[in-house]
Amino acid sequence: MKDRIKVCFKCHKPKEVLYRCRYEELKGWVFLCGKCLQVVKEKYEDTYQYGGTWKSKKK
Ligand SMILES: [Zn+2]
Repeated sequence: MKDRIKVCFKCHKPKEVLYRCRYEELKGWVFLCGKCLQVVKEKYEDTYQYGGTWKSKKK
């Protein structure tokens, strides 16, 4: 079975579009929804890194 839905690292809600990013002491990349991304961006503006957008549906 193909599961094309990922969940947000912070709120654990399944989303069709997520943003790959890393911040603070995280060693790897995580996926965040748009809402959590805004929060992380402001909270961890010194360490926040953006790594691209993930979409469940291919164009
Ligand atoms: Zn979220």
